[in-house]
Amino acid sequence: MSDNTTVARAAVLTDIPGVDLPYFFCDTCLARKWFDCDWRRRAENEHLGQGHPNFNPRLILPCSNCRFHGGKNCACSASPYTMRQSLQAMIDHPPHVVEEPREREDLPMKKKSIRPGWEGLSNSTAPGLPQDILQDPVRALQTPARVPNPAPASEAVLNQQLQALSVSGPSLSQVQMPPTYPTPAPPQIAPAPSQPAPAEEPPTFTFSLPVRGKQSESSPSQQGRQE
Ligand SMILES: [Zn+2]
Ligand SMILES: [Zn+2]
Repeated sequence: MSDNTTVARAAVLTDIPGVDLPYFFCDTCLARKWFDCDWRRRAENEHLGQGHPNFNPRLILPCSNCRFHGGKNCACSASPYTMRQSLQAMIDHPPHVVEEPREREDLPMKKKSIRPGWEGLSNSTAPGLPQDILQDPVRALQTPARVPNPAPASEAVLNQQLQALSVSGPSLSQVQMPPTYPTPAPPQIAPAPSQPAPAEEPPTFTFSLPVRGKQSESSPSQQGRQE
């Protein structure tokens, strides 16, 4: 069922705006590979319930997954890591496999921990991992995170990079590819025959994400953790 894995792919390969930034997933969902965490969206409602007579700033706005499946003592809080980094960490350490998302049980949080005004439904079944990430995570994660088509202003910079690389007939995807990654043994899935960069991909959001490789990924300190 392809729909069930679309969420996971988007959560790893940055189709969702902001998904490659720290503090997008809660730590529970990150650990359990629950790709449909809605912590970030709920955090945008941080003023929810402030007029309520029982308002207590220590009460949290948990993600839907923690709310219904995290267990009664779950404290949903944002993770400084991205889902992509989390998967990468799994394949970097023995046994070097990506585990399937944890199955969800009916384990609601204690109601008195939850801020008044919280609304939401259980997401029930966890989205599955796409087959290519499951079977060959090294190769799947080797693919650079998708970024929006570069703004016209940055074309000059890209052209400079192309000239510096001195490769014949390079494509945008080659420029973004990490140059020193070891090539794994050829898998059974044949690589796409030298197709150009997926320019037909519709722009799904407008703000520009940093091109991978140009900026250090260890930048959680750039974002203050907000509680
Ligand atoms: Zn979550
Ligand atoms: Zn959570």
